[in-house]
Amino acid sequence: AITMRGVNKFYGTYHALVDINLTVAPGERIVICGPSGSGKSTLIRTINQLEPIESGEIVVDGVPLSHENLSTVRQDVGMVFQSFNLFPHMTVLENCILAPMKSRKMKRAEAEEIARSYLARVKIPEQADKYPAQLSGGQQQRVAIARALCMKPRIMLFDEPTSALDPEMVKEVLDTMIDLAREGMTMLCVTHEMDFARAVADRVIFMDKGVIVEENAPDAFFGNPQNERLQTFLGQIA
Ligand code: ATP
Ligand code: MG
Repeated sequence: AITMRGVNKFYGTYHALVDINLTVAPGERIVICGPSGSGKSTLIRTINQLEPIESGEIVVDGVPLSHENLSTVRQDVGMVFQSFNLFPHMTVLENCILAPMKSRKMKRAEAEEIARSYLARVKIPEQADKYPAQLSGGQQQRVAIARALCMKPRIMLFDEPTSALDPEMVKEVLDTMIDLAREGMTMLCVTHEMDFARAVADRVIFMDKGVIVEENAPDAFFGNPQNERLQTFLGQIA
């Protein structure tokens, strides 16, 4: 579970997150959308402390985030970025076993077995010994998802995981995310893939200028948007 209470974040004098209050229950799937620069990436990056906050509190599975528990909390929170962020000089398998061996102190044989099982689940078991550059964008993103899952996170954060992909590769990554969602993973996804939001989100959140402007179940969010800026936004992306 994630609780954000009165969270404010500044970049210099720029107020990037304004009094954010958000609760994500275990197993809940949240989609965040909103215009460019509205603070979506900043919000999810605060949850694994990639961005420090100026005031407020973030509690992950009962643990209030602090500098002291940064690395332990991060082990439970997987993150997948728009750019795949794989280590280019390591094979797919090596990418997947690195963190479990280093942070979870797992033996290589066990880490490899787990990695191969997740690579199979994201449907690329045959790519284990290739280097990232030898894969398609969609395959690389599925490796990034498998790599995050190898840490057995309790929460997965996604920041526009499909927006750098060619259209024909978007579906394979979304299908992977839909599988995860159906298995009950707690997920917070920044995405403009509204079909994905309709299919799996418990709640959809609209941000504008660092503020959570509207939040609702998908049916009401898309069918009966209240805020004028959300109405305009939905009109633009439809
Ligand atoms: P996009 O849809 O383009 O990814 P976003 O909603 O994810 O946008 P953020 O990346 O969270 O937006 O940025 C929110 C605001 O904070 C923007 O105005 C951005 O310019 C600013 N910002 C983001 N990162 C920094 C930084 N490291 N230093 C200064 N300003 C930043
Ligand atoms: Mg962003």
